[in-house]
Amino acid sequence: MSKHCIFCSIISGDLPCIEVFQDKDFIAIMDKYPISRGHTLVLPKKHYVTLLQMPSTEVGRLYSLASVIAKAVVSATGADGFNMGQNNGTSANQIVPHVHVHLVPRFKGDSPDGRWPARTVASNEALDSIAQKIKGLLEITEQNSNFG
Ligand SMILES: [Zn+2]
Repeated sequence: MSKHCIFCSIISGDLPCIEVFQDKDFIAIMDKYPISRGHTLVLPKKHYVTLLQMPSTEVGRLYSLASVIAKAVVSATGADGFNMGQNNGTSANQIVPHVHVHLVPRFKGDSPDGRWPARTVASNEALDSIAQKIKGLLEITEQNSNFG
């Protein structure tokens, strides 16, 4: 837990977030500045700056959970595809120094020039409504809950 980390503050409840899932080790929240509708972040509750600090078994659990959340994000948004990405270090465009996996739904024609769509500022109402939809579609079962 790092005092000045925005994600640690969210995890401890000191800062608000719009959550789609959490268990004892991981949390999934809506990105406040989404690249697209439904842009979700999946992160370990423990503070690791980059993936290199994280034990590989935990990385496996993080990605296992991210794939389950991605399925619900894609269904909830009706996306045609999605990007799953994770930046390590400022030279790799990591903005918050706490490991997080981006799930970015993509829609046909959302990037005519081949670049990332620009980030937007989403209203809490918009984030909340898509989060409710994602939560409703999450299929966390005994079989696939070993990330928790
Ligand atoms: Zn942190």
